[in-house]
Amino acid sequence: MDKSLDDIAELAESIGNRFLFRGRVDLEKIVKTKRISFIKNNYGNHFLGQLVHYSKKFYIILNTDLLEHSESGRIRFTIAHELGHFFISAHKAQLSKGVSLSFKGDLNEQECKKIEIAANHFAANLLMPKAHFTRLAHKLELGLAGIFILKAKYDTSIESTTKHYVNLNISASVMIKWKADHTFHYSWCSKLFREVTGIKEYPLPIRFDSRYISEQVAVIDSNALEYNETVTELSRWFSTVLQGSSEDILGLEQTVKLGDFGGITLLTFRKVD
Ligand SMILES: [Zn+2]
Repeated sequence: MDKSLDDIAELAESIGNRFLFRGRVDLEKIVKTKRISFIKNNYGNHFLGQLVHYSKKFYIILNTDLLEHSESGRIRFTIAHELGHFFISAHKAQLSKGVSLSFKGDLNEQECKKIEIAANHFAANLLMPKAHFTRLAHKLELGLAGIFILKAKYDTSIESTTKHYVNLNISASVMIKWKADHTFHYSWCSKLFREVTGIKEYPLPIRFDSRYISEQVAVIDSNALEYNETVTELSRWFSTVLQGSSEDILGLEQTVKLGDFGGITLLTFRKVD
């Protein structure tokens, strides 16, 4: 990779700001300006999107099989990710040489992973320019209430908006992503969360309970809720925190379903003085 993730975020933010129209980044305009063409076709469940170079031109291939039932935020993230491969010069150079970034034929798994992380990082920062996002987020209610407004504003997915929110350290929060079968997928926390709770372990020592998630999902379904909200103790989610101890602070727990992609439980804590 030719740039650090911070440089990539900065590059994406500057492009995003230039194409921001009423808070929403105009991806079609970026694509047009760069003379990239779209190809939409049915490719089963092999990939969401792909950037390819063919006779001196770049094309973004979109897989309608996987994207036709997706919300616009997910499709936009896919396009923004492919634009990442275009704007990150090392990726573009590989593609121009005829090297495929998406399939493991040309590159090893480690390289592929690094490239994908970089393109995802580009996508989040393109769609939700950092300074603009941070300013707006601080004016809104903490947690999912604010995130839903941000998601609507930037026309992004709940998952990418929540991840960006946690990454940009808006509050002391933990994002726990679970799969469609209610098993653990991954977790991510903000710097502020580590400062407020003193939890230093990596990965986070999450106490994950699939049965509890199933109960939350049942509540959401039976009441047709956008998301479910409750008060939680830190010890309910962290195996290293003793119940009832001084470290066992109270926080806000919010759970949202992501259709076929499982869901997210977001925990938000405040500093106790
Ligand atoms: Zn990619």
